[in-house]
Amino acid sequence: MTKEDVISKKLENNNYKLTQQRATVLDVMYENKGKHLSAEDVLLKSKQKMPNIGIATVYRTLERLASLEVVYKTMFDEGKYRYELCEDENHQHHHIICMDCGNISEVEEDLLNNLESHLEKKGYKIVDHDLKFYGYCPDCNK
Ligand SMILES: [Zn+2]
Ligand SMILES: [Zn+2]
Ligand SMILES: [Zn+2]
Repeated sequence: MTKEDVISKKLENNNYKLTQQRATVLDVMYENKGKHLSAEDVLLKSKQKMPNIGIATVYRTLERLASLEVVYKTMFDEGKYRYELCEDENHQHHHIICMDCGNISEVEEDLLNNLESHLEKKGYKIVDHDLKFYGYCPDCNK
């Protein structure tokens, strides 16, 4: 099954009907894999496909897709959520945010699993963790 099939199955199982407007929002997310879009970004890109789509629809669709774990939403430093297509249902990758240009990159390494098992040895049950790095990207650091 492709990623698209898995997602449509999930929407179907949750009785979430892909109306044309919702499908447009989802298409925008597919086309921007690996990017971190604000609701306004998604609105602008959706409008190119469907000029009459409104922010309320985009926002509601993104929130619903986030609750179904089709997209992730992460609050970055400007206090706004950004959305991205979910690549791994169990754990979201980590991000590094440039404090100068605002670029958001993904951190591939995840060294926290050791720490999780360490905590579990102490009797905790760890469900997930969330981590953001702040600093300067290689371009801004020159
Ligand atoms: Zn930068
Ligand atoms: Zn990301
Ligand atoms: Zn992690």
